[in-house]
Amino acid sequence: MAFMKNKIHVLPEELCNKIAAGEVVERPSSVVKELLENSLDAGASDILIELEAGGKGLIRITDNGCGMNRQDAFLSFERHATSKIRTDSDLFALTTLGFRGEALASIASVSRLRLRTCNNDEGLGQQIYAEGGKIKNSDEVGLPQGTTVEVRNLFFNLPARKKFLRKEQTELGHAADVVTKQALANPAVSFRLKHNDRTMLELRREKGVRERVAALLGRSLLPDLLPLEREIGAELQLSGLISQPQLTRSAASHIYTFINGRYIRDRVVQHAVMDGYRHLLMKGRYPVVVLFLKIDPAQVDVNVHPTKHEVRFREQSMVHDFIAKSLQQTLRPAEWLEKTTLESSVANVEHYSPEPQIQVVKADDGMPVNGSVRETSGYYLHPAESCQKNHFSSESNEQQFVPTVYPPPQSGKGDDIAQYTLPGSEATGFFTRLQILGQYHQSYILCQDGADLILIDQHAAHERVGFEKLRHAYAAGTIPSQTLLFPEVLELDFNSATALGDNQHELETLGFEIEPFGGKSFALKAIPQLLENRSAARLVVDVALELERVGRTGQLRESIDEILILMACHSVIRANQALVTVEIKALLQELDRIDFKANCPHGRPVMQRMTLTQIERLFRRQ
Ligand code: ADP
Ligand code: MG
Repeated sequence: MAFMKNKIHVLPEELCNKIAAGEVVERPSSVVKELLENSLDAGASDILIELEAGGKGLIRITDNGCGMNRQDAFLSFERHATSKIRTDSDLFALTTLGFRGEALASIASVSRLRLRTCNNDEGLGQQIYAEGGKIKNSDEVGLPQGTTVEVRNLFFNLPARKKFLRKEQTELGHAADVVTKQALANPAVSFRLKHNDRTMLELRREKGVRERVAALLGRSLLPDLLPLEREIGAELQLSGLISQPQLTRSAASHIYTFINGRYIRDRVVQHAVMDGYRHLLMKGRYPVVVLFLKIDPAQVDVNVHPTKHEVRFREQSMVHDFIAKSLQQTLRPAEWLEKTTLESSVANVEHYSPEPQIQVVKADDGMPVNGSVRETSGYYLHPAESCQKNHFSSESNEQQFVPTVYPPPQSGKGDDIAQYTLPGSEATGFFTRLQILGQYHQSYILCQDGADLILIDQHAAHERVGFEKLRHAYAAGTIPSQTLLFPEVLELDFNSATALGDNQHELETLGFEIEPFGGKSFALKAIPQLLENRSAARLVVDVALELERVGRTGQLRESIDEILILMACHSVIRANQALVTVEIKALLQELDRIDFKANCPHGRPVMQRMTLTQIERLFRRQ
């Protein structure tokens, strides 16, 4: 045994750097990210980013930050060499973007890197050139204060890595994305991005984030963005801009979240943002959000991932709820509702698809699915889907539904429906104040608001109201039910029967009463009042199956909302239903009693506004 050769050896430093580079430097945009972080940490107010061949040929970043002296310049090439932390307690009091002391060493190990830096205004600076991490030459040069890092031929000594690089345009896109994120977080810094000598982006210094957002994401978005500013004492502050629900994107890529000035893509934060928009967006639609969270650095660990994109909060659920609530409160009623014009919706037509998107939505990027139907609950796709179709098909006459009429609250006295009345019985508000003009195509309610024409989708409005009522009733204990004169016997398959049998109690809470009827049969004896009679049998099975699924996953809270949406969807007036004025009035009053009234629970808009100017334009009077 004693003569057996040792197998373990310590790796040479050069190889260590290459391994570290594997984590930090994936592609040109990762270099851009690290260098920008260094420039920002150095206090730069002007940053120039020059790329060639998407960054594969050259990345050069020039800043007017503090610069380095000769000794620091050499040290900066060493791994674990940093000016930003000293002790381990500093790790939990970070005020800089960098702290690992790895970036320059890693980048240098996989490229040809030239550093030029000067920390004084006498103009005496230092230049160092390295290839594959080895310093080849250095000299003193005349320079203005600041730093330029020039990275050529990335991965020249790692051909396997190089093969993974994409087309010039793709790499450029990634790099521009990085610049966008840093620029959003630092409006007071000017950024210039050049590619192959062409200026791609020129951002001057701004006072606030609004102007920076306009310059980066498009000025036309501004009218649809709401400012947000909330805080819990000094330790938790949230500020930024969030889109009104009518401005959406098909991907989550326009959700920009920053923690203490650092761009992060954290699941907790993303989930909280989507929670803030719960029931306001259609399936598969995402808001435009630029949000800055300031939190005591001791409350968050940034050091969980080499690229620092993820974080870990000490009080995860507190942070989550704070963000979600802040958004909900900002998105709450009226201010934006009254501003919703047809024009702004039409202007966003590129982002907003009027097609029902309820089908099946993949939550492949880990984003929470918002709205009514999850992929995993395919079994209750049908009612919701049909609900969407009914809503959109104007000529469908297979929908012979009995109208559900909500009487005005005073006439509901003593009547079962009164139990459904929402809190705040005095409903005066935006909708109540509208002057009713009539009904169009048995589907839309026309009203006048000042000189503007208001169109209300009666089905979407009813669905919204129904959902809100169910939610209140559920929150208060049980959803009131009505006994059926003739109990309905349900003959079910095995799965449905089990689900129904196992979930009788929950179903009671939701307003259903069911009795086993031998074998796989059940008698449906009572249903939620709001539901009237229709499709209750089908619905109860869907609900039971959903409860069964939830029982397994434990996401009851989210799912109850989905079940309530499903029920609301079954309870409401469809399109193609003539309404008399008193019914319209009742509906408008109901709308004023609820919070999120501008969208149905599926996220479709409830109302649209056309201004007099828009109408006059149609007749060439303007
Ligand atoms: P880190 O940023 O984690 O400290 P880096 O390897 O990115 O590690 O940088 C090492 C050190 O070099 C930094 O701590 C900083 O002192 C210095 N440095 C890097 N880039 C710049 C720059 N643009 N201006 C001034 N100092 C810089
Ligand atoms: Mg750094």
